[in-house]
Formats: sequence, structure tokens, C-alpha cells
Amino acid sequence: MPAEHTAAKPAAAYPGHPTFPVRNPATGAVVDQVRDHSAQEAAAMVDAAQAGFRTWRATSPRHRSEVLMAAYRGMQEQAERLRDLIVAENGKSQADAAAEVNYASEFFRWYAEEAVRTPGDYTEAPAGGVRNVVTRHPVGVAVLITPWNFPAAMATRKIGPALAAGCSVLLKPASETPLTAFAIAEILTQAGVPEGVVQVAASSSASRVVTAWLADDRVRKLSFTGSTGVGRRLLAQCAERVVNTSMELGGNAPFIVTSGADLDAAVDGAMLAKFRNGGQACTAANRFYVHQDVLGEFTEKFGARIAALRVGDPAEGADIGPVITEHAAEQIRGLVQGAVEQGAVIAAQAPLPEGMNPAFLAPTMLTGVPVDAEILREEIFGPVAPVVAWTDLDAVIELANAAEVGLSAYVYAGKLQTAMQIAERLEAGMVGVNRGIVSDPSAPFGGVKQAGIGREGGSFGMEEFTEVQYMSVDWS
Ligand code: NAP
Repeated sequence: MPAEHTAAKPAAAYPGHPTFPVRNPATGAVVDQVRDHSAQEAAAMVDAAQAGFRTWRATSPRHRSEVLMAAYRGMQEQAERLRDLIVAENGKSQADAAAEVNYASEFFRWYAEEAVRTPGDYTEAPAGGVRNVVTRHPVGVAVLITPWNFPAAMATRKIGPALAAGCSVLLKPASETPLTAFAIAEILTQAGVPEGVVQVAASSSASRVVTAWLADDRVRKLSFTGSTGVGRRLLAQCAERVVNTSMELGGNAPFIVTSGADLDAAVDGAMLAKFRNGGQACTAANRFYVHQDVLGEFTEKFGARIAALRVGDPAEGADIGPVITEHAAEQIRGLVQGAVEQGAVIAAQAPLPEGMNPAFLAPTMLTGVPVDAEILREEIFGPVAPVVAWTDLDAVIELANAAEVGLSAYVYAGKLQTAMQIAERLEAGMVGVNRGIVSDPSAPFGGVKQAGIGREGGSFGMEEFTEVQYMSVDWS
């Protein structure tokens, strides 16, 4: 079982089994074929996962730590191969893909270090005599579901803590980007992860595989990263068997610039927060609120940087590749069109080379966007930056918080005191203060409101894969 579930092979390797193609979004070319798992195959994988769990949880924390450290080194050694795979199946720039591989590998290193530091507790009950001994145990077989926008990092951010805690995992990567997940599973096998502990199932029907897994009593955990809509459906499914869940869902990040901000730093931060991965990040700045007094200078500098972005095939070194599908591009064009119809102006745009397929979009800055425009309510997930002017701080904070999701937010203010005061009032799980990026393996990543439940990264990430047991001990 494990070899076929941890290695992506061409269709010829699966005689008699259905496969589906993985396409390069920049060229439309087929990168590879992957096995299309049936519900029966998915169900059978739980047997191996349960056996793997028994083996793995019995290993010492030090052993698990060393295996994860070997996987970290394996990813570093294979960094170029992984980068090229991400570029081919996801379409992000080479620089973004290389940064992702490094970020993703760091989750293995971080959780190699955390594996040997599982905390416990010991207290005397207030009435005396009785002691409370609190320990943590691996939650069990964990289902992991990941999106296409960070094919490596979203997988390692879950696999790292799960393995450190002693769980086995069943990973369902996005159908657009399964190849990176298979490559990481291979690296884990080479690092010494035993059979059945990490299994990957690609599928042309996500619900077919995931429903088979979640129906099995031996599956005790779901860790999902993806859209809020799919997250809601999975939460309902998990309610059936009261499965432990962690949810990393959608974002709609505000980016606030005050009149006292260092505008060069703010523009650097805006470029990173908006155009990393071509805007296809859950943490992407979605709405720019810039103080009226600095609006002209900020938009001039930001617009010039956007106009200089090079759009094209990332394999040939472009800064901005396509968005993931033509359908996604069509939806983003619709949001821009809608904003323009409501009075917004396309104030800056990068040139779109001739002959690009319809999944390519010109990076765009919109100004004069009305505060009720649909583009400010929807997660754009593409290289479009809507800018809104503000004058009243209370009003702009209210606008920033007027979203059903609260994943990340950004604040640029001259005085750190002002920035911190604003940050504390924002309904967001993560705030970049004078920074355009918040992702860090050592920090708790996650959102409030409908952006999710739980945290990944840091010591918090490992708690999600453990259960607390308390023993009431008569000491007298
Ligand atoms: P998506 O459509 O929700 O898909 C995410 C994953 O769920 C994919 O593997 C998908 O499989 C699977 N899936 C879809 N329907 C399912 C179902 N009924 N049952 C079980 N699994 C199902 O999201 P996406 O478009 O890939 O990713 C973009 C979204 O992810 C954005 O909203 C973004 O904000 C969010 N995101 C959040 C974070 C975070 O940490 N908070 C990080 C990255 C992305 P298929 O590919 O086979 O459909």
C-alpha cells in the first residue's frame, strides 16, 4: 500500500487504474498523471494508517524528532526539484516557489525541535490529598486537506506537528497540485517515516475520498486549509462523529496606512502583502485603506511598482504568473469590472504580454473604490489592489472589521504606539505591524470569526494534534 500512495508516477505505472492529469496553469501542458483514488481505496488506506499510528506513537519523541530533522534536510537538499514542481503545477514565480520550499521545510525543523518538548502539568487539588497529573497524547489518525496555493507549506505545516505528536496522517492535496505533496511524502519515507504513517491520496473528487475517511471511526482528526465555504461543509460532516477539527479558512485582509507612515516601507510591505504568489494567499492584502493626506504619494509609488511587474511564464523568470485557472481569472476580471462600474478607476496596471492564455491577469491598482464595492467584500485571490481613502480612524477600523472573516491584517503607522493601538482594535488572528508578511513557523497562524478554528505553527500547532488526559491520583 504505502509505495503506491507516496509516489506520483505516470499513468503507465497504474495499468487498469483511473488517473487524472495535472496541468501547468501557465502553458496548459500536462505535467504528469496521478492515480485517481476511489472511495474503496481511500477506505482501505485507513487500515494502514491505524497500523502506522500504533507503530509511530510507540516511538520515542527523540526518534520522531530525528526523522523530522532528516526530512527537513531532505527538503533542503531537494529544494530545486521541489521549486520546479511547484512552479509547474501551481504557476507561481520561481522566487515565490523557492521561498515556499524554504518556509515549508522549516515546519519540519521547528517540529523536530518541538517533538521533544511536549508539556504536561502536575498540581495538588485545592482540597488536598489528590494530585492532578495532566499529560498529552496523540489524537490518532488525522486527515489533512490542503489547498493549491501553497502546495508544500500547507502540507508540512500539518504533517510536521502531526508526526511530532505521534499521529499518522492521510493527506488529500488539492487536485490542481498533488505532485508536490507526493514528493514531500517520498522525502518523509527516505527520512525514515514507517509504512502507513504518511499516505497521500489524490482524487478528481475530493468528497469521494474525504467522505470515506471521515466515515471511519478510527479517524479522529480533521485539519483543513481552504475556503470558508468548504470548511463549513466539512465542519457539518465532522459533527456526525464529533471529530476533532482545525480549520484554516479564507481571508480578506485590510492594509491600513496612516498619515505618519514611512511610505517607502509601506509600499514595500504592500507589494509583498499583495503580490506574493500573485495575490493568491489567504493572508493577501485585499483592501488598502490609505489616509487621505498621503493617498497621492502612496498611490504614485505603489502604482509605479505595480506597473513594473513582469507578467509571463514563471518558468522563464516572470514576477507574476497566471492565476490557478481560467475560471478564477474570469471571476477576478468580473470583480474589477464591477468596481469600475461603481466608480473605481484603474490607476495603474502592468503590461500583459501578447498571446498569454486567459489565466493571466494584468496586476492592477484601483483607486476611488467605493466602500461598499463587492471587490472589498470578496477574497480577490489575484493581483488586484483596491485602494480606499480614509480620514477618520474609528471609521476605518470599523470598515476593516466589517468582514465575516478575520485572518490577517496589516498596519503601517509612523509611531509604533499608534500602530499597536490600531492593531489591538483589529479583529484578526494575525497583524503585520509595519510588516507585509506574517507567516512564520514559530508563530501561531490562524484566524478569528469565520476565518477558522485553531492555530498552526509554533507550540500551538502541536496542541491541535494532541488530546489532554488528566489522572486524578490519590496520593495519601
Ligand atoms: P477549496 O476549494 O476550499 O479547496 C481546498 C481543499 O479542499 C482542496 O484540497 C479541495 O480539493 C478540498 N475540497 C473541496 N471540496 C471538498 C469537499 N466537499 N470535501 C472535502 N474536501 C474538499 O480552497 P482552494 O480554492 O483550494 O484554496 C483557496 C482558499 O484557501 C482561499 O479561501 C484561501 O484563503 C484559503 N486558504 C487559507 C489558508 C489559511 O491558512 N487560513 C491558507 C491557504 C489558503 P479539490 O482540489 O480536489 O477540490
